Amino acid sequence: MKELLILRPHHILDIIRNYGHFEKFTPHPYGHAQHRISEILVSNPNIKIKLINGSDDICTPCKHLLLNGFCNDVLHQLEVPVSKQEYNDSLDKKLFPYLNLKENSIITFKEFLKIVNNKTPGIEEICSHPKEDKNFRLEGLKKGLSKLL
Ligand code: SF4
Repeated sequence: MKELLILRPHHILDIIRNYGHFEKFTPHPYGHAQHRISEILVSNPNIKIKLINGSDDICTPCKHLLLNGFCNDVLHQLEVPVSKQEYNDSLDKKLFPYLNLKENSIITFKEFLKIVNNKTPGIEEICSHPKEDKNFRLEGLKKGLSKLL
């Protein structure tokens, strides 16, 4: 197992939400590693994470990751489709200051959970994805945090 995971903050928030709503992590058709990283995180709260704003360990095996490190997927749920790379970069750019974290900082998963817990409720206003019900996200985050902390 890797001793240091490299992850986008919002990808970790998605995992916490998913863990709150569901017990199992299942592979995604894109082939990305969210299910594997989720299992590592929930069973190793003290694992270290480098927080980045870019393609991460979840993206590495994804069919949408280009050789130049950019994502070529598109968010189709908006009226005007938006590049997922731009959407992700913009979302994580907001999350770093909101969570009072610096890009490229290294903390444990448990430390990240505590920081998120201090911003919940509230964080769902920033991290809910387009067309995602904010209350559903908040409920998932709260349940996930209570299981993990
Ligand atoms: S951000 Fe793009 S490359 Fe990364 S997992 Fe999602 S779809 Fe794949």
